[in-house]
Amino acid sequence: MTASIIDGKAFAANLKEQIAKKVKFLKENHNLIPGLAVVLVGEDPASQVYVRNKNKSTKAAGMNSYEHLMDDDVTEAELIAKVTELNNDPAVHGILVQLPLPKHINEAAVIETIIPEKDVDGFHVINSGLLATGGNGMVPCTPLGCIMMLKDKLGNLSGLDAVVVGRSNIVGKPMAQLLLKESCTVTIAHSRTKNLAEVVGRSDIVVAAVGVPELVKGSWIKPGATVIDVGINRITKEDGKTKLVGDVEFAVAVERAGAITPVPGGVGPMTIAVLLQNTVTAACRQMGIDEPA
Ligand code: NAD
Repeated sequence: MTASIIDGKAFAANLKEQIAKKVKFLKENHNLIPGLAVVLVGEDPASQVYVRNKNKSTKAAGMNSYEHLMDDDVTEAELIAKVTELNNDPAVHGILVQLPLPKHINEAAVIETIIPEKDVDGFHVINSGLLATGGNGMVPCTPLGCIMMLKDKLGNLSGLDAVVVGRSNIVGKPMAQLLLKESCTVTIAHSRTKNLAEVVGRSDIVVAAVGVPELVKGSWIKPGATVIDVGINRITKEDGKTKLVGDVEFAVAVERAGAITPVPGGVGPMTIAVLLQNTVTAACRQMGIDEPA
């Protein structure tokens, strides 16, 4: 069996189109332009690329984008003051502080400063609490993108066995909560899990969010399973050139799975699209407007 490829790029392009239509509707009918503020501290090249892409996509969807660049040596108090200013700015409906932050800044303290209604990354403890208790908060973008692709591919997920490999607060744990919400039987595997091969091998859905190149072997995959690979790892090939690979051994997994996301072109493009969607949702909720369908 050769798996069907879940095309995250096409899925994200479609989602962005729908978002642009919603933004147009909100502008024309409610005089509302959703605004996203992104705060970037320092000059980490990967973070600069992410922020540039977020800025471009936000504007392309017809929304307002506000970029706040701060020096590496900014103090925690200065950064918190900036977030507070954005909390109080009515033109800003979503706030994203690009992680990681320099070591002298307490990331949790900064994230907890963002008011939960504007926390479009869904990292605030109020939002993780709401997700865990079935409430209606902001949901982290990457896992939300994964669940959208899974539901699109499989329809009803109820009763399926799912494993999430990785237990980070930004991907693994919220991913497990979302699968649980869809009535999957969920296993969370991590670095101390015994016999990962067996756990993966009995799962209808495998979500890998580890950050270790091709850790999940293709031969472990249950025939016909759906595989979502969140990992983005840059490796150096024998010829000295670099390439991106996921956390799943794609070349072998693609021969066993029913469907699989590639890296690149799978989960990655969905994350930004969902960020835009979350910003529209946040704007509508803050203004007391029903979100356009
Ligand atoms: P993290 O480092 O915070 O967490 C990694 C998790 O993997 C940990 O919970 C750890 O227990 C688990 N782990 C480590 N080694 C393991 C092993 N040998 N066996 C089983 N589990 C193991 O990472 P993260 O922030 O969750 O990111 C994971 C990956 O996803 C990274 O490659 C990251 O670049 C990628 N990522 C992609 C997107 C996207 O938009 N596509 C977004 C976020 C993260």
